[in-house]
Amino acid sequence: MQFSDVLGQTQLSSRLRDTARSGRVAHAQLFDGPEGSGTLALARAFAKYLHCSNPTTDDSCGSCTSCLAHEKLQHPDLQWAFPFFKKDGSTRSVSDPFQIMWREFMLESSYVGIEDWLSKIGADRKQLFVSVDEALEINRKLSLKSFHGGYKILIFWLPETMRVDTANKMLKLIEEPTEKTVILFVSEKANRLLPTILSRLQRVHISRLSDSDSALGISKITGVSIEKAQGWAHLTDGNIASAIRLSKTGSETSDLQLFSTWMRACWSRDGVGIMKGSNEFSTLGREGQKKFLAYALHMVRQCILGNYGVEKLVRLTDVEQSFISKFQRFIHEKNIVSLSALIEAAHKDIAGNVNAKVIFFDLSVQVHTLLRKES
Ligand SMILES: [Zn+2]
Repeated sequence: MQFSDVLGQTQLSSRLRDTARSGRVAHAQLFDGPEGSGTLALARAFAKYLHCSNPTTDDSCGSCTSCLAHEKLQHPDLQWAFPFFKKDGSTRSVSDPFQIMWREFMLESSYVGIEDWLSKIGADRKQLFVSVDEALEINRKLSLKSFHGGYKILIFWLPETMRVDTANKMLKLIEEPTEKTVILFVSEKANRLLPTILSRLQRVHISRLSDSDSALGISKITGVSIEKAQGWAHLTDGNIASAIRLSKTGSETSDLQLFSTWMRACWSRDGVGIMKGSNEFSTLGREGQKKFLAYALHMVRQCILGNYGVEKLVRLTDVEQSFISKFQRFIHEKNIVSLSALIEAAHKDIAGNVNAKVIFFDLSVQVHTLLRKES
């Protein structure tokens, strides 16, 4: 992962390279931004640049010993911290049993979210965290001499999962850093960090990617056409991690089919149709169900934009456009807020493992009432 692999974020990348070349690298930094914006990609590119023995103004060289070790994620002066769970039967709660999986995970992509990690380590219903034992282990590792004589770097993904006692152990490392240590915290929810920690970090704010940057990135990473990537960029609000998940589950044609038959069944309160839709929905799997609900929300919002004549903002395929042109009169200012809230709540319930059939059925009954509301 070099700067040339980071999607968009060109100004920020250039600023990071400037600080590296100036030698004034803050020893504790917070890369803070939403999922899929490139926080982890930037931290990795920055770490590689700091270790590179022959960097140019634009990027790390890609061919020195350090760069090659970074490419394989085997650089001895790069440490990782990430949330995990305590394995049954283990006495100490440290990340060792997860390090191999983490390496595989990072070799696959830097555009990831917690749900990707949860499914990678098979921790569907488990609470992930960073333990006190792990913080002590990090302290120990960073107190060792650097192998190559340069920076010792720790990339700490999702520090907001630290408990207070863990955070206090990390605080010591931030307040009294060992020589040539750089800690890069990569966070999606910085407001959940302890104020004592937050106030000691140099903050690097990372914004969500623009529609055009994310569309280009999605097309590059998943191989879909730029037209399709534009649709996904819009659907995921520029979140590359979410778009990669989308690319792994079915096509949106079937989403449209399910959505249109479902809306018809809801409108006419067709019990058999709703049951059929609910069965189909339950076969999609958790990721597919979340994707479908995100799609439903997207379609409902497009109806409103269409109603208000904001044609330029409406991004739909021809088939979708033809469905929406007939359907949009049922979505209006009297029901849009409640409809959106209902679909969002269902999305949250799916993420929280509530039974899919129950969610879909309840949602359908409420959607019926809302669709029947006079505009
Ligand atoms: Zn290099």
